Amino acid sequence: MSSSAIGKTGETCIVCEQNKEKGIHLYTSFICEDCEKDMVLTDTNDPKYKYYIERLKMITYKQNIS
Ligand SMILES: [Zn+2]
Repeated sequence: MSSSAIGKTGETCIVCEQNKEKGIHLYTSFICEDCEKDMVLTDTNDPKYKYYIERLKMITYKQNIS
């Protein structure tokens, strides 16, 4: 049972684009717990890692053009 019933069900993860309750904030964006764990475990040579980096680049880029 959740004690925080303020009508907030979570945030949209910028990697998987799903609404998740648990995760970390990077700049103004949100990365869910699952993606964060996955990112840490992914080898830097894995194409999936490159995908994550691209998503993260998008965040920093958005930050810079404000
Ligand atoms: Zn995610």
